[in-house]
Amino acid sequence: MRATGVGDGARLARYGWPIPSLDDVTLTCQPPAGPGWLLLGDAAGLVDPITREGIYFALESGELAAAALETSDPTAAYLEGLWHEILPELTRAARLKRRFFRSGFTGLMVDALATSTAIRKVMADLVAGRQPYATLKRRLVATLHVSLAWRLWRMERRGGRPAVRTR
Ligand SMILES: Cc1cc2nc3c(=O)[nH]c(=O)nc-3n(C[C@H](O)[C@H](O)[C@H](O)COP(=O)(O)OP(=O)(O)OC[C@H]3O[C@@H](n4cnc5c(N)ncnc54)[C@H](O)[C@@H]3O)c2cc1C
Repeated sequence: MRATGVGDGARLARYGWPIPSLDDVTLTCQPPAGPGWLLLGDAAGLVDPITREGIYFALESGELAAAALETSDPTAAYLEGLWHEILPELTRAARLKRRFFRSGFTGLMVDALATSTAIRKVMADLVAGRQPYATLKRRLVATLHVSLAWRLWRMERRGGRPAVRTR
């Protein structure tokens, strides 16, 4: 940033901020609305648990809330809208997350991204919101190379642990 001057005048210190992401049980059992109140976006935990993207869901929950406020029962209408438009996808991602963020799977995914154009396309579609989680597994399996499929199958048999390398 210093070299390009893009951050002139800005304080160039590293910082981090947590992005709220809920597990599938919380998403299902703790509705983000009640009599007289609605939670939207991050406040409602409407963030993709895998990609951590929340802008789309924040905007969409805003639209759903605005529409719900025009009905006679905003709480019910908002929750119905969330369950129709957002929550099924987020709960699916929350369930997948446990399997996604394992060292074995992450390593496999990095190798797959480096070697397969088809898998790069699937993951680009996922990040861009064009690939729903409901059909992700089927599409990934259809594009997997034999060697990657074999490694995935072996990892699943070991309960998700990567292979121990021996000399
Ligand atoms: C470092 C980082 C990178 C991210 N990258 C991406 C990305 O690439 N793509 C993506 O989709 N998502 C990304 N996200 C997530 C995304 O930014 C959030 O999910 C999204 O902004 C949530 O929108 P929101 O309106 O719910 O909350 P926010 O955007 O946080 O808006 C809440 C607003 O309320 C204000 N506020 C808080 N308390 C009060 C108060 N008491 N009174 C008045 N105002 C108050 C805050 O200042 C803030 O402006 C990222 C988040 C972080 C932290």
